[in-house]
Amino acid sequence: MGRRSAAVVLGAILCAAWAVAAYLLLRTQIPSGLELPALDESDFFSAAQLEEAERYDRFSRINWIFSTLALLVSLGAYARWGHRFTRESAAGRIGTGMLLAMLGFAIVWLVQLPFGVAQLWWDRRHDVAQIDYVSWIIVDWIQLGTEFVFVSFAILIVMGIAGWLGDRWWLLGAPVFVLLALLFAFSVAYVVIDTHQLEDPRLVADAEGLSEELGVSEIPVLVQEVDQSNSANAFAGGLGPSRRVILWNTLLDGSFGEGEVRVVVAHEFAHHSRNHIWKGVAWYALLALPGAYLIARITRRRGGMAESKAVPVALLVFVALNVLAQPIENLISRRYEAEADWVALQTTGEPDAARTLFQNFADTGLQDPTPPGWAVVWLDGHPTLLKRVAMAEAWRAQQAR
Ligand SMILES: [Zn+2]
Repeated sequence: MGRRSAAVVLGAILCAAWAVAAYLLLRTQIPSGLELPALDESDFFSAAQLEEAERYDRFSRINWIFSTLALLVSLGAYARWGHRFTRESAAGRIGTGMLLAMLGFAIVWLVQLPFGVAQLWWDRRHDVAQIDYVSWIIVDWIQLGTEFVFVSFAILIVMGIAGWLGDRWWLLGAPVFVLLALLFAFSVAYVVIDTHQLEDPRLVADAEGLSEELGVSEIPVLVQEVDQSNSANAFAGGLGPSRRVILWNTLLDGSFGEGEVRVVVAHEFAHHSRNHIWKGVAWYALLALPGAYLIARITRRRGGMAESKAVPVALLVFVALNVLAQPIENLISRRYEAEADWVALQTTGEPDAARTLFQNFADTGLQDPTPPGWAVVWLDGHPTLLKRVAMAEAWRAQQAR
């Protein structure tokens, strides 16, 4: 067998392994024949509710389209001409690469700023956000700083390995990034600030009952004090001993009934009991390997990632791949969210509470219950509110049988 056919065989084996892993990761506990009833949104949401949520969401979606286009165009220009700045630098190979990354990052920030301000204006106008413009800029800067540290570190790793392995850097680089993602998934729950224990004794008892039923009784539920948003939220984070369920205080301020809060808590515990965070890291690995390969391949025309002048092209490819991966990531996320909803229905047995919870989300977070299909594909990590209501109805119908 020649070298070329050996490479083809290896490629085919890798593709098959990828497909098997993806198939196994996509499996959920939702009964395979489950059909969601076709519901009329006006039976579950008032006309005023629908109008306001649709108006709010429409602006946000258009803002996203323009900000993404601006981002890609500006990074495209930087990829075309940015390498000219290398001549002026005396910072060495990796140092110059990091400077180019910093410059690219400054461009990204400047280009995104007006869209961020426009979204904040819109959110404040609709009472979705309460943060003032100055505090928002500060928060934005802190986030920028964190992202920048990460990007510099990534450039350091990639250019370091590429200096040693050449264009094969991705074979080692991708696993290194998967390890970093694992570390991030483990520690993310620890960096959430302003949290405290659940206080309401009834809620504590409810949470204990639900976590026991799902076999995750060692996972604590914490409350996070958020004072700059009106929307209600909750999330599950951490791996193994760092696993947490975190509820925003906006969920417990009386706008949601006890049954609704129980559904949320069960949903978050389900993310842990169904190992969604581990699966998320596995998906990251499945996407990072081909992604790193593509970056290695495309940057070859600028001398490969060992050369600092490849950095602007690498930034463009990285951001473009992230945008392209968004529909895949959303599809995966929607499956896991639907599974968490299903497990929450099984655990609480409260389809009415689930329904009113989703109806409430149209008010507190101004979510459009039936966004257009393209917006679901590109922007929605959760099933639409109408689909979530439909699942509660499907669960009830299944019980009645
Ligand atoms: Zn969820």
